[in-house]
Parts: sequence; C-alpha cells; structure tokens
Amino acid sequence: MKLNEAFRSLPPNYLFADISKRVGEYQAKNPQAELIRMGIGDVTRPLGPSVVEAFLQGAREQGDPQRFHGYGPEQGYGFLRQAIRGYYASFGVSLAEEDIFVSDGAKSDVGNILDLFGKDNTVLIPDPVYPVYQDTNCMDSRRIVFLNATWENSFLPMPPQEEKADLIYLCSPNNPTGAAYTREQLKEWVDFANRQGAVILFDAAYEAFIQQAEIPRSIFEIEGAETCAIEFCSLSKTAGFTGTRCGYTVVPAALVRDGMSLRQMWLRRQTTKFNGVSYPVQRAAAAVFSPQGQRECRENLKVYQDNARLISQTLAGLGIPFAGGLNSPYLWMRCPFGMDSWTFFQELLTGANLVGTPGSGFGKNGESYLRLTSFNTKEATAEAMRRLRAWMGSRR
Ligand code: PLP
Repeated sequence: MKLNEAFRSLPPNYLFADISKRVGEYQAKNPQAELIRMGIGDVTRPLGPSVVEAFLQGAREQGDPQRFHGYGPEQGYGFLRQAIRGYYASFGVSLAEEDIFVSDGAKSDVGNILDLFGKDNTVLIPDPVYPVYQDTNCMDSRRIVFLNATWENSFLPMPPQEEKADLIYLCSPNNPTGAAYTREQLKEWVDFANRQGAVILFDAAYEAFIQQAEIPRSIFEIEGAETCAIEFCSLSKTAGFTGTRCGYTVVPAALVRDGMSLRQMWLRRQTTKFNGVSYPVQRAAAAVFSPQGQRECRENLKVYQDNARLISQTLAGLGIPFAGGLNSPYLWMRCPFGMDSWTFFQELLTGANLVGTPGSGFGKNGESYLRLTSFNTKEATAEAMRRLRAWMGSRR
C-alpha cells in the first residue's frame, strides 16, 4: 500500500490556526478587550428574505409526496442553470445551459477540476493568492511556477515571456489583494493561453463586488476565452451562501484539447463523483437571480462596499499604501513603519484590539502586507477605523 507522498510536502496550512491561537491567548489575558475582527473572509449579512422564502418553499416540497424531489441532475436543475444563464446575459455573455454546472461551491470545483488534467502539466499561480490553487496542485505533485504579484505591477501579473504554461490560475477581483484585471489585460492572458494551448482557470468568486464598468465580471467577456478558459463562481460572497453552499462552473463547448471536449469530461467527472446540490438550496440559489433577489443582494453588497470605502478613505488619510477595496471586499495594506506581517498583526491586536490577516500567509510576496476585509458591520468597521487612526497617531 502506498499513500500519496505529496501530502508530505504540502505547504503548512497554519495561517488561520495561528491567528486563532494568538487571538485566543490575547483574549484570555485581556478578557475585557473588545476585539474587532477585520480579517474574516466570511460574510455577516444574512440571506435575502425572498431567497429564504424560496429555500423554505423548496423544503416544504420535499415534505409533500406530490412534489417531493429525489436525485436531481448532477449538473444542476434546469431552472437554476437558466437563471444563471440569464444573469450572464445581463452583462452581455451568452452561454448555453449545457456550459453551466451547479455545485456546492467554488472551492470544491477549483479542487475537483484537476481530475481533468495530467499531472505533468506546468501550472502558473499568482503569488499571493487564494491558497487552494497551490495546495490542490501540490497534492497532485504538479510543477508550479509562481507569478509575482507586487506593488510594481499593481498586484496584476501579466503573461511571462519565457515560461511555457499548461494551466493558468487567475483570480479577479483577487483574494487577498483586491486587485482586478482590466479587459485589455485579460485579453493578453487569453491570447497567451490560446497561443500556448493552455487552459485558464478563472476564479470570479468576487465578480459581484466590481463597481467599475471597465472591469470584466467574467473571462467570457473577452474574445477568444471560450477556447481557453473555465470559470468558477460562487454565491458565497455575492448572496451570503457561505453556510448554505452553492456555486457554479462554466465550461464552454468550444474548449477542446487533444480532440477531447473539456465540457464533456467535466460532465463525466461530475456524474461519476457528484450527486448534485440539494433541491431547496438550488431553489434558494435561483431566487438570488430573480429581480427581487438581485435587489436584496445589492443591498447587502452595498453595506460591504460602503465599509470598503471607509477603510480606503482611512488608509489614504493615514498615508498608508494599499490596493483593493474598490472592486473587492478586500483591502491589502502595506504594514506601516517597515513592520513585517506578523509583527504588525500583533501590534494591531495588542495596541488597537483589531484582528487582520497577515499577508505573508498568502505567499512570499504577501510579506509586509496585511489583509483587511469589509465583511464586518458598519458600526464595527467605523470603530475599527477610529482605533486604527488612534493607534497610528500614538506611534508617530
Ligand atoms: N475562490 C476564492 C478566491 C475565495 O476567496 C473563496 C472563498 O473564500 C472561494 C473560491 C470559495 O468559495 P465557496 O464558498 O463557493 O466554496
């Protein structure tokens, strides 16, 4: 018997455990301290009322012998795939229903998609980025080449001159930097991938936060993407589904390599290893795309966007360099006074009772940065910014 030895060389996954440990220790010694968590990647706003109603309606059907649903189509019910199709059409992207695969969230799909690709491919992954891309490829022992996302390139790395790529991960708007690619930049990536026969794995989990019209919400807004890209999206941050679980992946019919259709392969993979998302969740998800559902989502998103604006204004007022916040719930701030990520994390915790996420946990280029999120309440965010200003003032 042989185990997957690649697990031995997986990068340690200590970031959030380390944060909890340090926060727990501090709170134990200072029980009266009221900590504000500005590092959380989870939403705080609940599902919209019309979404909850659809969810309940779906659950009621499950208790009614006339309307009960057993196994559904592995790739999702037609009503939800049509709703997603309509959503893409609203920003000018035309998809076939068969291109859309519903799942329990983007994380599973991002990991599972690797079933389609050989293990001797070379993978390009931005640094820093959502750690799942690196970890899932390490589990398969694929060769990874990191793309430096730095202040100098506005955290948006472009195709490398000399590297031959097979798989390319792009996350826009990005977690953790909040940076988002323009149309022209994505066109360069699409042309590069088509030239090389590579496949772009495009993570659009934060597309709903885009406020600038010139920033594409989908890779399929770019000409040529249908022959080189797969897109992952999620209702987690868009509609508060982090605990409800629903996402979708788009694999266009025109994406073919070595005579094999990737859409056909993904269908085969999903029908073999996945039995679909629960019926009430799919009903709730479809309600997200209704006009009322969209209004409710926009109200919640506005809370986060307003928070992000307040954080941006505070950082700008303090003269702290940062990225993100405009098309993203994430703000990526340079640690002040030349501190490294963990030193600043600890200073903020003890000096201002604020919890951020050390940037070094997202890759080597994250060192000396800290990620703040706009997912807290309006009141907590305002208080956090007051504390940050006071702490900066006390250090100067
Ligand atoms: N992709 C990115 C970039 C994320 O930041 C996250 C969650 O934080 C996900 C995917 C996972 O989304 P889901 O909740 O749909 O699994």
